[in-house]
Amino acid sequence: MVYCVPMPCDSDRLILVTESQYIKGETVFTRTPKGWVCCGAPAEETMLAKACRREKPFAVIVGVEPYRGPLYESLPRGGVIARFGVGHDGIDKALATRFGLFCTNTPGVLEDSVAEHTLGLLLTAVRGIARADEALRRGEWISSGGLELRGKTLAVIGCGRIGSRVARMASAGFGMRAIGCRAPLGGSDPIVGFEKVTDRWAEAVSDADFISLHIPLRPETAHYVNSLRLAQVPHRAWLINTSRGGVVDERALYEALKNDRLAGAALDVFEREPYRPSGPFCDLRELPNVVMTPHIGSSTVEACRRVAERCLFNIRAAAECRWSEMDLLNPDVLNALSLREAHR
Ligand code: NAD
Repeated sequence: MVYCVPMPCDSDRLILVTESQYIKGETVFTRTPKGWVCCGAPAEETMLAKACRREKPFAVIVGVEPYRGPLYESLPRGGVIARFGVGHDGIDKALATRFGLFCTNTPGVLEDSVAEHTLGLLLTAVRGIARADEALRRGEWISSGGLELRGKTLAVIGCGRIGSRVARMASAGFGMRAIGCRAPLGGSDPIVGFEKVTDRWAEAVSDADFISLHIPLRPETAHYVNSLRLAQVPHRAWLINTSRGGVVDERALYEALKNDRLAGAALDVFEREPYRPSGPFCDLRELPNVVMTPHIGSSTVEACRRVAERCLFNIRAAAECRWSEMDLLNPDVLNALSLREAHR
């Protein structure tokens, strides 16, 4: 537990940081700029809201947990909900705007870490590294085969910051062919590192050896990878997911893996985190062709430090009315706040 009693400070300069984010960014959070104090707090929404009503912080820094209600009314108008990371599906931006709260995230500082983890998962899966390690520890010496990456086709679904990094690393580093799949009508992403970019899933995956997901979780992308889309994938393909668990229908994935309609899966994110099967008889942990990590794609020392620094930057920018410098997710909040509230 890292919950701390705030040192005496102006509550206008107090930031509550949810527990695992506090641990990840501790070196930064314990050396805040003069006058600012960061304190560990529980992540669960009702407990965090209670801590906010008691301590009256200016801002909270939160992880991937869903925040849907009590947190918003427990923060002061003009305050900040800062996401420690990029994906902001856990934050209700419309509700935040209604309560006059700024929502921020931290794009541009963790892409390399997530892209590296994606390729690490890919290699772990295709060379059977996790199983070989387990077997060796059991005293077995099994020299199982694997596949080479050079010349293989990687379908990258979502050609934004992380997807395009993965494509570049895979093509320049491993000599893979990267085929991009971007959002229909969402054509402004740069296409560096891709051999080809399409907006059609079936075309992107038709010849894929690996499919790597890098799309955000939104209502329209929930269960994006479903049984229909899985049926269009070559049976030899591996699915890699370091985006959000909710973009994959895990029951459909389990069925495809169980019935050899997919070679395997390497997953960092899940529909329910910490991982629980999304229903009876579909526990992905039982399948030998699945590699799983506990949502650690961006959890490197370097990325955590940069993310923590960027959270504090955004919060201070809000306090100092430097809104154009913030990674603001709900710019309409500026219309919702009166001038006096915005200039606290
Ligand atoms: P980004 O916004 O830069 O890129 C996402 C891309 O997906 C955009 O280009 C968008 O146009 C595209 N897209 C949206 N819907 C699509 C669709 N239906 N088909 C094809 N493309 C579509 O985001 P990013 O920084 O690259 O992050 C990607 C995801 O990675 C985020 O959603 C985030 O949740 C996740 N993430 C995971 C970790 C981790 O630790 N595993 C860390 C950071 C981010």
